[in-house]
Amino acid sequence: MEILPGIHALPGINWSKAYLIEGDTLALVDSGLPWNSGRILKYIRKIGRKPEELSHLLVTHAHPDHTGSASSVARKTGAQVVAHSADTKRRRNGANLSYMGVFGSAPIPLPFFERTPVATLVNEGDVLPIAGGIRILHTPGHTSGSVCFLEESTKTLFSGDTIFSDGERISRSVPFPGYDAVAYRASLERLATLDFEAVCGGHGAPLKSGGSGKLQELMEARPELPTWRQFFRSIPRRVKKSRSMTGEDF
Ligand SMILES: [Zn+2]
Ligand SMILES: [Zn+2]
Repeated sequence: MEILPGIHALPGINWSKAYLIEGDTLALVDSGLPWNSGRILKYIRKIGRKPEELSHLLVTHAHPDHTGSASSVARKTGAQVVAHSADTKRRRNGANLSYMGVFGSAPIPLPFFERTPVATLVNEGDVLPIAGGIRILHTPGHTSGSVCFLEESTKTLFSGDTIFSDGERISRSVPFPGYDAVAYRASLERLATLDFEAVCGGHGAPLKSGGSGKLQELMEARPELPTWRQFFRSIPRRVKKSRSMTGEDF
């Protein structure tokens, strides 16, 4: 589904979100849980493009619900996987996405996750030659290698799990294991000073305009970061009103 000119939210990817950016080549932002690669390739063909045109697979952070299909999409299309080094692990073949590192010290066996080699390690301020230029914003906190991708010509922010939207408002992440509250707050404050319109988050519904202003308003109205306690308390209300289960509720 084309949600903004040249930006598609991939249909049929449940739980998390993946987006396709159209330019001379194509870029995918995140790839959902494992077993989604067929669906992603099918969608690329449906909009009249070819899977081999996918040049980049941009990883907002290494949590498995955002990266589960990355290795198979990369293998089937030839796309290079792009991520921040802090969410990768060095192995003999080079940098790989680090699924377990992002869950803190407890190793959770995830046998169905293949290793995903990262072709391009990015840093704060890098600009990738995709569409109108995609700027890398290193926004640690949710994980230490969390990044947001800013499509500069349309001022669209691909925010991963750093901020979410329900289509109208911005919300923030709850403290996941491995989360760093100090870094997270600094990343939010920094994002609030930038100029972006649309917010395409890792969960929820995209916000089409007014993104940075809405983030500023949120930080002023609710300076305290969301907690798990608030999250659990909000569940009955969310269920009753069919609201999203990610981020804080209002
Ligand atoms: Zn996450
Ligand atoms: Zn997520």
